[in-house]
Amino acid sequence: MTFPELKIIDPILKALVTKEYEEPTPIQLEAIPLLLEGNDILGSAQTGTGKTAAFAIPILQNLYLQKQIEKSPRIIKALVLAPTRELALQIHDNFKEYGRNLDLRTAVIYGGVNQARQVAQLNQGVDILIATPGRLLDLIQQKKLTLANIAYFVLDEADRMLDMGFIKDVHKIVAMIPTKRQTMLFSATMPNAILNLANEILNQPKRVQVASESATIDKIEQAVYFVDVKRKTDFLIKLLKNPEMKSVLVFSRTKHGANKIVKNLLLAGIQALAIHGNKSQGARQEALFQFKAKKLRVLVATDIAARGIDIDELSHVINYDLPEVPETYIHRMGRTGRAGLGGDAISFCSHDEVKFLQDIERHIKMVIPVKTDPTHSANYGNSSIQTKASASLKSSESTSYQKKIAYPGKKKNYKKPEPKFYSKYDNKNKNLNK
Ligand code: AMP
Repeated sequence: MTFPELKIIDPILKALVTKEYEEPTPIQLEAIPLLLEGNDILGSAQTGTGKTAAFAIPILQNLYLQKQIEKSPRIIKALVLAPTRELALQIHDNFKEYGRNLDLRTAVIYGGVNQARQVAQLNQGVDILIATPGRLLDLIQQKKLTLANIAYFVLDEADRMLDMGFIKDVHKIVAMIPTKRQTMLFSATMPNAILNLANEILNQPKRVQVASESATIDKIEQAVYFVDVKRKTDFLIKLLKNPEMKSVLVFSRTKHGANKIVKNLLLAGIQALAIHGNKSQGARQEALFQFKAKKLRVLVATDIAARGIDIDELSHVINYDLPEVPETYIHRMGRTGRAGLGGDAISFCSHDEVKFLQDIERHIKMVIPVKTDPTHSANYGNSSIQTKASASLKSSESTSYQKKIAYPGKKKNYKKPEPKFYSKYDNKNKNLNK
């Protein structure tokens, strides 16, 4: 099926040619016809699947066709709520690109910056507004905008809204939007709280689901290295000497950690910048711009700052720290392998993080291949992880581990882990295959 077969109008088709999109992604194939028919949608899809175009194209098309008939004034008729400014900016860019040949105006508002420019833009008249919840409520309270004419409402990354504590704000915002509207809710995961919210705000929605989360990571080559905490920086520096690592996003659990990693990389002569909540909006934008333009090879980020970052051809994601929440691992990996491209996700696991690794493997239902670094192996041999693991490993355990590692749905790139790194972990994993 092609874009013209989805009955997309010419000015949008032209924009898609400019974007060099050859054919619709699975979520676009499913969602675009349903949305053009006016259905509400509950979409299980994460960033990286092409979901922005799946909702942006029908909204743009419907607004454009409506405008041809009604010559309606420039008032906000479509609202997209996103949890972070990065994601909001990205959605805004996409709307502008897909709508470049339509006379529709799009604006984006988010917190952490002076509101004056955003208000000036709103005053000039806007058809489509992309917003983060806090700034939106703030400007509504100041009577700088109204949601009274919204006919299309998108709640993007609803699970992240929940995680970030925005759910009350979302309820307040929904209460201000007319009930006669088309509503689209997208979420990578569907915990009960999201299903309840969906029940409240959607009207007989069609369910759209793209391949399960774990399936979307198929094209990404994963590896884990057991690295002592104290050696992580040295090891990162060593890995980054590989010129094949062209564009590397490094995840740190904390803001302070991200700053420290950057400081050490700079000392080692590797250019890097950090993005996290304590950096100014300008600094974050500049770092992202340089990274996307491939002028900066290494970007160090916390999870929230990296949310929604969309970088074509990001070659490597490195988990300097393993995430405590297994789903975050999938979100992080989703930064690479965009739109069907491959990528590498490398994790560092210290002794204290083995429990996180177990949770992640249970969640993604696969064993992440363990890699060792030959030139460092002597040193690693002395690390606390390996010493403890090796000390408690009996040969019978290692054999049984090797025998039973065949997980259902195992991935092609799978390589047998080095059993000597496991042991206690191995015993726990026995439950996985039951
Ligand atoms: P999203 O899930 O909306 O963040 O999109 C992920 C990436 O896929 C973005 O870089 C989009 O520009 C790209 N993309 C979206 N739709 C298509 C398509 N049909 N063909 C190729 N790339 C696409």
